[in-house]
Amino acid sequence: MSGKKQVRSAFRAAVFTRDRFRCVMCGKPGKDRQGGDAHRKYHAGIPVETLVPLDAHHITNRNELPNGGYVAENGISLCDDGCHLLAEVFHQTGISHPGFSPDELYSKIGSSVEEARRADSVDG
Ligand SMILES: [Zn+2]
Repeated sequence: MSGKKQVRSAFRAAVFTRDRFRCVMCGKPGKDRQGGDAHRKYHAGIPVETLVPLDAHHITNRNELPNGGYVAENGISLCDDGCHLLAEVFHQTGISHPGFSPDELYSKIGSSVEEARRADSVDG
């Protein structure tokens, strides 16, 4: 694995594990959209075909943090088909979908843009 790939993969693993492989906003149980079976210990007994694909969403855009923001403090597990699109509205338009502003997302995971920035500076 290249360094960059490793950073992205560690980011996804840290975010999904903290959120126990569920979409933080709608609560649906899921699995990493990019594959792997780390979700299995969290969803024993749930048929794998019913798990939603999850994305590790960057709450603050990668280019606005010193080292790309690949830290759990800046990531949140969101379902690929619904909640991730709603969170991206802010990055695309500058206006957040109700309930999906960066501050609201940070509060769901007990973080903040300051914490994300601090963690991103230390880890990098
Ligand atoms: Zn969702």
